[in-house]
Amino acid sequence: MVDSVLISGAGIAGPVAASVLAAAGVDVTVLEVADGVRPGGQAVDIRGASRVVLDRLGLADAAQDLGLHQRGIADVETDGRHLTEMTVETFGGDGIISELEILRGELAELLVADSRARGARFRFGTRIQQLLDRGDTIEALLSDGSSIDTDLVIGADGPHSATRRLAFGQNPDQQFDPVRPIGGYMAWFTAPMIADLDGWYCMYNEPGGLTASVRPGRTITQSKASLAFASQPLSYDRRDLAAQKAILRQRFAGAGWLVPQLLEAAEYADDFYLDSLVQIQLPQWSKGRVALVGDAAWCPTPLTGLGTSLAIVGAYVLGNEIATRAELPAALARYEEIMRPYVTTGQKLPPGGMRGYAPQTRAAITARLVSTRLMVSRPLRPLAKRLFFEKAEAVNLPGYSLQHR
Ligand SMILES: Cc1cc2nc3c(=O)[nH]c(=O)nc-3n(C[C@H](O)[C@H](O)[C@H](O)COP(=O)(O)OP(=O)(O)OC[C@H]3O[C@@H](n4cnc5c(N)ncnc54)[C@H](O)[C@@H]3O)c2cc1C
Repeated sequence: MVDSVLISGAGIAGPVAASVLAAAGVDVTVLEVADGVRPGGQAVDIRGASRVVLDRLGLADAAQDLGLHQRGIADVETDGRHLTEMTVETFGGDGIISELEILRGELAELLVADSRARGARFRFGTRIQQLLDRGDTIEALLSDGSSIDTDLVIGADGPHSATRRLAFGQNPDQQFDPVRPIGGYMAWFTAPMIADLDGWYCMYNEPGGLTASVRPGRTITQSKASLAFASQPLSYDRRDLAAQKAILRQRFAGAGWLVPQLLEAAEYADDFYLDSLVQIQLPQWSKGRVALVGDAAWCPTPLTGLGTSLAIVGAYVLGNEIATRAELPAALARYEEIMRPYVTTGQKLPPGGMRGYAPQTRAAITARLVSTRLMVSRPLRPLAKRLFFEKAEAVNLPGYSLQHR
């Protein structure tokens, strides 16, 4: 029986697991390395089973209230003309722009508030430095000099998870590294509304593997921007934002469309975030008294549009299995059994992977536009929907109800 849990990471997966466990009467502490709930990020898609989870947590209405109204996604020419369009309705709300899109920072705020209301404690500006698994409990030594003895540590600390490193080592299997770069980097930031988007998420490709996008933000004066580039792994200081912005300036120098204004906006954005695009592939998601969830366990990359949905569903399943089973190993095994096929499907990248998202040549950009036009054409829509947009449903979610011990 698990009576106390320490969760590392107050992004999306961490607070969902905290809500389920705290509701079941488990003593829950959540550590977050940032000084508060991290703002930033674009709109993330809430798809398939994750909508069911938000509903079961009693958060469906609040999530709906946060939903952004967007018309769809369009590939644009240098002068802003639309070359392709995929509306929200094209795939019945399940396409690239889903029916429910929420700003990542606002979703994190909602989930943290919910788990706090259910009794979870949050400690910001704090992280785990060492884990000592003693078999019957696990001790976490924290960055503020204190320590916590607990029944289970959950690593929900994102793709570069420190919990994963501490519990599994750099290379758990000795056969391969769990961190698989897919060949690119992506920066997200808030920018002033620099063009009339008319509700569209506009995306621009430039040869050389450069992709820029702008979409509506929370207010009419705000937009959410992203700049992505294809690249071999780079070495840079993850805390040095100025160095990261310099990399972007160098990569995007001379690029067209709104790129110059976006580079300028990136300089002043207070939520600038750049990350390597990596998938996490682990043969198992738990070891002793440590379990991983969300991007820490299986990051599918933002290219799949499923990172947030998988994190929500996975954290919900993990929390419920722990709360309802007497034996921890049985709970962790069942969590893995339910989530593994869903994650394997969800990790499949769209055609071409990073080369498809940020093509290198003009011909490859043209091929990308042609395939989008085919995908949205009426005769091919059902096939495209089946191939690309039904993955979010592909889980047998047990009929848990929130437990109260
Ligand atoms: C600032 C930000 C912006 C993002 N923007 C987008 C976006 O625009 N589009 C998109 O598709 N995806 C985006 N993502 C990724 C997306 O949020 C995740 O794919 C998905 O929601 C999975 O959630 P998660 O909780 O597993 O991981 P995350 O949402 O990454 O949350 C992990 C949390 O752990 C914290 N953390 C990291 N290391 C430690 C540590 N050592 N100790 C304690 N806490 C730690 C992080 O600060 C973060 O709050 C963004 C992530 C972040 C952090």
